[in-house]
Amino acid sequence: MPELPEVELISRSLNSLVKGRTILSAKLFRERLAPDTAPTEFSKKLRNTRINFVHRRGKHILFDLSGGKTLIVHLRMSGRFSLLADETENPKFTHAIFHFDEDRLVFDDQRHFGLMKIVPTGVLYDAKELKKLAPEPFSDAFSVEFLYNKAKASKRSLKEFLIDQTKVCGLGNIYACEAMFAAGVDPRKPSDKLSKQSVLRLHESIRAVLHEAINHAGNQVVDPENLEGNYFSAGTTAGWFAYDRENEPCRNCKSLIVRLKQGGRSTYYCRRCQRK
Ligand SMILES: [Zn+2]
Repeated sequence: MPELPEVELISRSLNSLVKGRTILSAKLFRERLAPDTAPTEFSKKLRNTRINFVHRRGKHILFDLSGGKTLIVHLRMSGRFSLLADETENPKFTHAIFHFDEDRLVFDDQRHFGLMKIVPTGVLYDAKELKKLAPEPFSDAFSVEFLYNKAKASKRSLKEFLIDQTKVCGLGNIYACEAMFAAGVDPRKPSDKLSKQSVLRLHESIRAVLHEAINHAGNQVVDPENLEGNYFSAGTTAGWFAYDRENEPCRNCKSLIVRLKQGGRSTYYCRRCQRK
């Protein structure tokens, strides 16, 4: 599942590829991709709309359209966009197509979890998908104080707390593990037991790991025919510190990274370096 840095890269790429272009027609092939909009309505709402720009909120890609509409897209597990020339065939699991004059933007999704929704731009942030999200990690609203107060109000393990998008926006399994490693905090610790000092380090680490990943992404060559969320599967320039490194030596202390299950998902951490 793409995390915030991947979605940032994809929305930037989409913005440079389709900003200013007009959707001449749109087709929805899998009804449940846009459960609030019937396929005929989907086509009608998007026909002859101009894409003003593409941005994102959390892991949601947002197409700001003419006529005061915004198309919200969540890629979930395997959704991806491709900008294809007219003569190129559709990918196997094509669920929606946006036609331009000489090419088209195709959304395909092998695992069928992707979601689209068209909302009035004026009330975009009231949409249920966006309303409860924590502030963007690089915004002033995401302060140490904010994180501390949220942590104090939660009794869940730190790891589960960090991947809850209403508490911290943008961290998934990978960057949560990396941020906890960088901050030296124990993933099993109940959130409300974190010291102010730990929260301070965690806050810094969350921004640092996301920032590094986005910077790393900025150097990647974007393939318009393959806008999906796997840019970082090989890690950032230096590779991960904790994520996906079970039984490999910690880069700090050489003891072996361990894996445990939390909320049904794997957490990777160093028992010696992450004691706080
Ligand atoms: Zn270590």
